Amino acid sequence: MEPSDVPVIAIDGPAGSGKSTVARRLARRLSLQYLDTGAMYRAVAFAAIRQGLDPVDVGPVAALATTIDLVVADGDVVVDGVDASVEIRGPEVSRAVSVVAANPEVREEMRTRQRVWAVEHRGGVIEGRDIGTVVFPDALLKVYLTADPAVRAARRAKEMTDLEYDTVAADIARRDAADQGRSDSPLVEADDAVTVDTTGLEIDEVVEVIAGMVEERLADRDAAR
Ligand code: C5P
Repeated sequence: MEPSDVPVIAIDGPAGSGKSTVARRLARRLSLQYLDTGAMYRAVAFAAIRQGLDPVDVGPVAALATTIDLVVADGDVVVDGVDASVEIRGPEVSRAVSVVAANPEVREEMRTRQRVWAVEHRGGVIEGRDIGTVVFPDALLKVYLTADPAVRAARRAKEMTDLEYDTVAADIARRDAADQGRSDSPLVEADDAVTVDTTGLEIDEVVEVIAGMVEERLADRDAAR
């Protein structure tokens, strides 16, 4: 089976746009599996730091990415048998992740793993930055989530209770600029994506709107068979 044969709902967008919460709830609502690809890049950054590598060292970090055992499931992340679920969200990993994610060989390896995951799980809701543009260009539905930058920073600051709003806002702005500016699969909206601005919306409203779109596309697909 090819990745294009399984139904993928791609949820892309910048940090704090609501991707994780929306994608997780959408998957539950539609009884599909959910994959957080940001957690995969964070896990590689975590492993690099743990092994004493400099995240900017392209070769060693790429070699590490191809050999690590990585399990991302139900919000838990296990890297080579070590539970990294908490550390991957910390400031040290957040600082290192953009440069690790800009490494083309790391991206190639993660893309392969994401496609294997989709086939093994028979599709699912997959969130990230390049899911609709590069990893699954044939996704059943591509959603690009956005929100006002101040709202995005406020959401993240609420989650990271030990960090000040200004620190969180600066981190988000830095990561967005790096994600949009890198040469390999930058954060950009797919031409055929549906944009949803979550600024003034409740999570459940966003989930219902997207679930309706998925159900419509599935019905169209079945009718065309
Ligand atoms: O989604 P999250 O903010 O946890 O992602 C962390 C980082 O991982 C992003 O800032 C980005 O650099 C990288 N990432 C990526 N491609 C993806 C998902 C995440 O480059 N598909």
